[in-house]
Amino acid sequence: MKYCRFQTEDGIHCGIIESVAGYEVINQVAALHSEDPFCAEFHPTMTHLPLQGTKLLAPVTPSKIICVGRNYREHARELGNEVPAELIIFLKPPSAVIGPEENVVYPPISERVDFEGELAVVIGKRCRNLRAGEDVRAYIRGYTCLNDVTARDLQRKDGQWTRGKGFDTFCPVGPLVSDELDPWKGVAVETRVNGELKQHGDTRDFIFPLDEIIRYCSEVMTLVPGDLIATGTPAGVGPVKPGDVMEVSIAGIGMLRNRVIDSLSH
Ligand code: MG
Repeated sequence: MKYCRFQTEDGIHCGIIESVAGYEVINQVAALHSEDPFCAEFHPTMTHLPLQGTKLLAPVTPSKIICVGRNYREHARELGNEVPAELIIFLKPPSAVIGPEENVVYPPISERVDFEGELAVVIGKRCRNLRAGEDVRAYIRGYTCLNDVTARDLQRKDGQWTRGKGFDTFCPVGPLVSDELDPWKGVAVETRVNGELKQHGDTRDFIFPLDEIIRYCSEVMTLVPGDLIATGTPAGVGPVKPGDVMEVSIAGIGMLRNRVIDSLSH
């Protein structure tokens, strides 16, 4: 199933994307017991919209975004780091989240902003302290594209990553959530800047498998529906400048496109 959040003249809604007679349409759904229809039972509203031309929003409103640092060997090496023996996680604030086609604002206090295309897990069921051997798939709603935009100079200068990773607009997410792909079997994660391919990774090259990532996070904090876990970026990260267009593509999900703009034009 493919889920989205979208905006119309009368507000923000959730929907399921279906193929009808060769066209992709959004079947608007409503919650029975919850604000977030995908946390509980939901029912169709009989309202259908064409996917093309509908303004999609970030598909989730996470309570937190947990990111894995250095989960592809080639990426660890390209930044001059050792391949980590243990997982490294950090947080991006929910205030950094933007949706597809929204602009990333280049902060005036940074001189080096990088793209980092990543596959993100969307949590579907509350969990804490998952046990070794427990099937983590029961807690996954699906997957989406995430761009872990990073002010690399500030990340290096500060020694910890809150500022470099945490600016408003530094967490593009979307365009939708799909459970129709299997990262355990290998999913290609690609990033383009102005149409040029910069990153091409495969989730089979993870240093730490998804089971371990989700279990590790759940030992630290309670995971709740809508939370995002970004699984790390492949090799090929590089800088962007105002005017550049970043595209993160994952087969089965689609393409997350965001333009970088100057803070003065914000
Ligand atoms: Mg990253």
